[in-house]
Parts: sequence; structure tokens; C-alpha cells
Amino acid sequence: MTEKKSDTLLVHGGRDRAVSRGAVNIPPFRASTVLFSSLDELEHPRPGQAYRYGRQGSPTSRALEELYARLEGAAGAVAVPSGLAAINVALSACLGAGDHMLMSWGTYAPGISYARQFLGRMGVEIELYDPRIGAAITDLLRPNTRVVYMESPSSVSFEVQDVEAIVSACRNPGNDHPPVTVFDNTWGTPLYCRPLALGVDIVVQAATKYVVGHADAMLGLVACTAATLPKVRHCARLQGLAASPDDCYMALRGIRTMGVRMARQFETACRLAAWLERRPEVSGVLFPALPSHPDHEVWRRQFSGGAGLFAFMLPASFTRAQVANFVDKLELFGIGYSWGAYESLLISEHLQRGRGDLDQFPGWLLRLHAGLEDADDLEADLEKGFQRLADRPA
Ligand SMILES: *Cc1c(COP(=O)(O)O)cnc(C)c1O
Repeated sequence: MTEKKSDTLLVHGGRDRAVSRGAVNIPPFRASTVLFSSLDELEHPRPGQAYRYGRQGSPTSRALEELYARLEGAAGAVAVPSGLAAINVALSACLGAGDHMLMSWGTYAPGISYARQFLGRMGVEIELYDPRIGAAITDLLRPNTRVVYMESPSSVSFEVQDVEAIVSACRNPGNDHPPVTVFDNTWGTPLYCRPLALGVDIVVQAATKYVVGHADAMLGLVACTAATLPKVRHCARLQGLAASPDDCYMALRGIRTMGVRMARQFETACRLAAWLERRPEVSGVLFPALPSHPDHEVWRRQFSGGAGLFAFMLPASFTRAQVANFVDKLELFGIGYSWGAYESLLISEHLQRGRGDLDQFPGWLLRLHAGLEDADDLEADLEKGFQRLADRPA
């Protein structure tokens, strides 16, 4: 049977009526203890009877995992309490003392901190690489390189990685112990980017963003090939990283509308990015969906849409007070971390340390998340902000 399209899966996936007893939604199964009818049943679980103790997941987490795995085209998925926990599980399942990992310097900064400060302390050598490296990653591969970690587009700076070139370099027939490739798909989500189809082994997703979509829960998902699933699931269990049934319920509720939310938010982002690019005050827009973006062609090959998240720059000639006067008084854009929910956000950003091109972006870097508001109203709010930018605050 051919798999349904993702908009159909979003509605029908992960909805076993036997589990929900006919209700449309699988409820949050809040449980630590799960009761058995006899010692025999306790000691000899039936095949597939995985619901045995709260820490090992619930029918609610199973439903979410099943749906997410189908969206990614994965053998299975594992739900964990945050996006950063998803990065942790994917990496710690594959790495040990004496191993080497290549990690894009465009990776979400707390992911780099986790790798360096935690895995580094456990004896893993972390080497950062240029996200635009492509096939030249071959020169960095060592016999003990066990993981090549990608995130595309990069957090903050929005470079797009040539995933196919990197995967084929890792799978070079001369390499009989190829590294595991891991890809953070939070920006594209499985609706717009399918890393496993490009040959990637493990996908991580900060479900906190578009899957939950309402800024009210933290969650991570790890989608795996058949070869990597058992060790990733085992590693989550070893670390006691079980997602809460209530958060899984919120994610299941949010994911049903992810298709329409993302389509609209991406469309608004495209419009605002193109408008910002024409503003005389703006010195650059970092958004791979813009034809002017240096990685636009790679992006078109690997993505069919994307998030409502991008960055733009203002020249260093603006003072901090002017930029604050622009941002602080916006009516519709909140100032806060995270993104992917229904509301618009605007924050100032900094490039992470340890990258090779720190001087590439002089001036102010602002990260914009387009929400579900009317695009005319968002544009008008920014327009007023640019008028404030022109007046020097007293
Ligand atoms: C937010 C984010 C994460 C971490 O997710 P949390 O749920 O906040 O831990 C990981 N990767 C990317 C790209 C993110 O934007």
C-alpha cells in the first residue's frame, strides 16, 4: 500500500480507535504503574505489549511516535522531553570514548554546548565544520569518525547544507565503517524536508516548535532507520528520558493542524523577507527561500517549503538605542525565545562562538518568526518600526 500524503497522515495517523475507545483523540494516559492481571502476565509480556511502566512510554507517546515516524518515512521514532534531549539521545546512542564527531558550526548553540561540554568530557572529540562544506567533508573524515551531524538551514545564519553530498562522502565504498549521519529537521519538518530519503540515518526534531505549535509544551522526537532505532530507543530508556503523557497529548493535538499553520507561516515569512530585502535600512536578509540567498538552489533541491523563521541585518551605524526603539515598541511581535508557535516574534541574535566566519555579519542581526496574524498588519507594524528607527531617540 502506498503511504498517504503528509496532510492526510497528519489527520489520520496515530489514531487507533481501540486505544481511544472511539474518541477522536487518544487521551493522555497518565500512569507510572501499569497493572497486570497475574504474575504470569507480569513475567511474560505478550509480544507488542510494551506498555508496562510509565518511564517506558504510554499509549499517548506511542501514538505520537508512530505518526511522526510515518511522516519522516522512518522505521520508528522516540519521544523525549525536549529538542535538546533528542540531540542528546541521538548522539549518545552513537558515540563513546575515543570517537570523533563532525558537527556543523551552524548547529543550534545549546546542541554544540552539549556536545563539547558533555560528550567532550566523556572522551569524544568534537570538530566543528563549515555548513557549506559539501563533498569536501571527505577530507575531515577519520577512521574513528562515528557521527556527522547536520542542521539545515543553520540556526541564526541560515546556510543550507548539501545533505546528499555529505551523505555520499560518508558512504564512500572505501569506508567500511561509515559514520552515522544525524540531521536536525526542526526548520523544515517532515512536511518540507525528508532527510531519511536523502540517506540520513537519524533525524532529530524540536517538537517544541511547530509540532506542539502553541508555545505551551517542550518535546523532542528522534526518527530512525531500522538499523539505528534499537540503540536510540535503548539509549533514551537508559537515561530515563521519557516524554510526559500530557506533553505528548499537546503535541498530538498540535500536529493535526501543523500543515495549514506552516503553509501560512511560510507564505507570510516569504512576503516579509522579500519586503525587508527592499527596505533601504536593511543590509541583508538570511532566508534560503529568497532567490538572492547564496544557497537557494541547494534549498530548492532539498526542501519544498519551510518554517516562518528567518533573520535580517541592520548596519552597525544604528545605535543599540535605535534598534531597541524599533524592536521594543512593536505591537504584534513578541520578544522571546523559541519559535514555531502561532504568534510572531522578533529577537536580536548572536552568532555562536567557535565558527570560522564570525566577521561575516557586521551590525545587528534580528531573527523574525512570522505567526498566523494577517501579513498586512505585520508589515504595517514593521513599517512603523522603521519610522522609529529613523528618529534618533532623545
Ligand atoms: C529549539 C531548537 C532545539 C531545541 O529544542 P528544545 O525543545 O528547546 O530543547 C533544537 N534544534 C533546533 C534547530 C532548535 O531550534
